[in-house]
Amino acid sequence: MAQPTNAFQMAQRQFDGVSEIMNLDPEVSQMLRWPTREYKFQIPVRMDDGSLQVFFGYRIQHNDARGPAKGGIRFHSSETIDTVRALALWMTWKTAVADIPLGGAKGGVAVDSAGLSRFEKERLCRGFVNQIFRNIGPRLDIPAPDVGTTPQMMGWMMDQYAKLTGGEYTPSAITGKPVGGGGSLGRREATGFGVVYTVREALRHLGIDPQKATAAIQGFGNVAQHAALGFTELLGGKVHCVSYWDRSDQAGYTVSCSGDGIDVAFLQSITDTYGAIDKDKALEAGYKVEDANAWLSKDVDILIPSALEAQINAESVQQISEKVRVLAEGANGPTTPEADEVLKERGVFVIPDFLCNAGGVIVSYFEGVQNDMNYYWSKEEVLERLDQKLTTAFQGVLEITEGDGLYTREAAYVLAIGRVVEAMELRGWI
Ligand code: NAD
Repeated sequence: MAQPTNAFQMAQRQFDGVSEIMNLDPEVSQMLRWPTREYKFQIPVRMDDGSLQVFFGYRIQHNDARGPAKGGIRFHSSETIDTVRALALWMTWKTAVADIPLGGAKGGVAVDSAGLSRFEKERLCRGFVNQIFRNIGPRLDIPAPDVGTTPQMMGWMMDQYAKLTGGEYTPSAITGKPVGGGGSLGRREATGFGVVYTVREALRHLGIDPQKATAAIQGFGNVAQHAALGFTELLGGKVHCVSYWDRSDQAGYTVSCSGDGIDVAFLQSITDTYGAIDKDKALEAGYKVEDANAWLSKDVDILIPSALEAQINAESVQQISEKVRVLAEGANGPTTPEADEVLKERGVFVIPDFLCNAGGVIVSYFEGVQNDMNYYWSKEEVLERLDQKLTTAFQGVLEITEGDGLYTREAAYVLAIGRVVEAMELRGWI
């Protein structure tokens, strides 16, 4: 079979496999393997030096049968329409598997936001909303942050949306806003802690004591940092390494420390806002700095890829240690279908991305709910509700995995696609 060459082909291939298992109508499959709506637009931005730079933005709404489309906006130098399409598809399955009343969308701009000044970033964010405000909104499509975007940027986007739509305060048009600016407590921790709640359930299912468990993490941004914190503080396990991308060297590195594992708070203190660790300070503190892929071959119980897509592929999967029992996909699409086949054969328990990292969108949904009520929950309440939602979702997937003898990713798809198709039927779309 031809190898998928990009994330969208990978997402479609995963969908096609499950559509066959579910015996879906070919017409329904055709509808679901493509986004419903795609917007591509120019964003002209006046730079600080007076020049005009034109960026390209995308907003892709895959499916909104179960509720308003929902998904982050990425600012990443290698963003393409196909990455955004893939991520939009995965958002539909994510909101469905988590059973929150939303659909799936994604946005992106091909830009390295770390290279922009504060005011250039603000103009780019407002420019993005200028182009798309007619097609988003609390009952249409609700953007949020993702790789390269921050809560502050969501604050600017929400403000621009309000300005362009008559000035009414509409905080639930955009989620992931700063706390105090309409954001929810617990949103920062949500994805990483959510990863850890699903890991806890997987370890329970496999009979592994979390306090004796070890993990290797790819990335050290929002998801990875909170997965590392949650794994050590909530479960009592040890994290042997994390990794990051160094912009000045244009190279990735793994920062490791076996034995007692890394000191998450210390590494956070020497990490910038883009998830890059200060290599010299890490070396000074006695950490080992290895190549980008070293995290993958560690003798640990759990791997938690939390950086970018297609990191575990036909070649790199061969480097995974025999000791690994669980792959918890913090990132979106970190495993290619070829690597999936190998993991399936080896009996690695895979917690698929759209279940594992659904914590962020679940708390985004809670944020919108709190915005609409104009009443805000404590962080404990948010995280408790998140744990309940994810644990229920995990158990639903596990039931199908065991009942139908399916691979976990297929089981999660069966649950999610079933819910989306049911909503399409109930609305009379099919
Ligand atoms: P982030 O920008 O905060 O962090 C990304 C991290 O990955 C950084 O540490 C960066 O240095 C590292 N990285 C980038 N390229 C790398 C490479 N080639 N090798 C090694 N490290 C590399 O992003 P994030 O919000 O933590 O998101 C990480 C992943 O999780 C993405 O796939 C994102 O789509 C997914 N995700 C994020 C959320 C969320 O709430 N933030 C929710 C669901 C899924």
